[in-house]
Amino acid sequence: MKSDCIFCKIASGGTATKLVLETQTVAAFHDINPAAPVHILIVPKKHIRSLNDVTEEDSAILSDLLFAAKQVAEKTGINESGYQVFFNVEQGGGQLVFHLHMHVMGGWSKNG
Ligand code: AMP
Ligand code: ZN
Repeated sequence: MKSDCIFCKIASGGTATKLVLETQTVAAFHDINPAAPVHILIVPKKHIRSLNDVTEEDSAILSDLLFAAKQVAEKTGINESGYQVFFNVEQGGGQLVFHLHMHVMGGWSKNG
């Protein structure tokens, strides 16, 4: 836990942010500024700055994040209509919060 990191605080339950899903290794919560009808962030409980800082030791965390995306999609009802899963990596990739997080976005209407 990095004491000045907002996603460390959220993932440890130290804020008012409600967790949509929590496992031993990851936590999911709604994006505060959603860019889609359903916009969830999934973070590892371990503080990792960005995808660039993932090591071989963290490979289980990566699979836990992806599996949590599948579960969150089911839980929020966007699994059948479909959704996007992505990471922004470092400044040039649009990363603003430097605690690794995966975006899960979906829930757009079928008529566009
Ligand atoms: P990124 O640009 O990939 O770093 O995305 C950071 C995301 O975190 C943005 O979509 C923000 O809206 C979101 N965000 C920032 N602070 C919070 C917070 N306290 N709770 C939930 N989402 C947040
Ligand atoms: Zn952190």
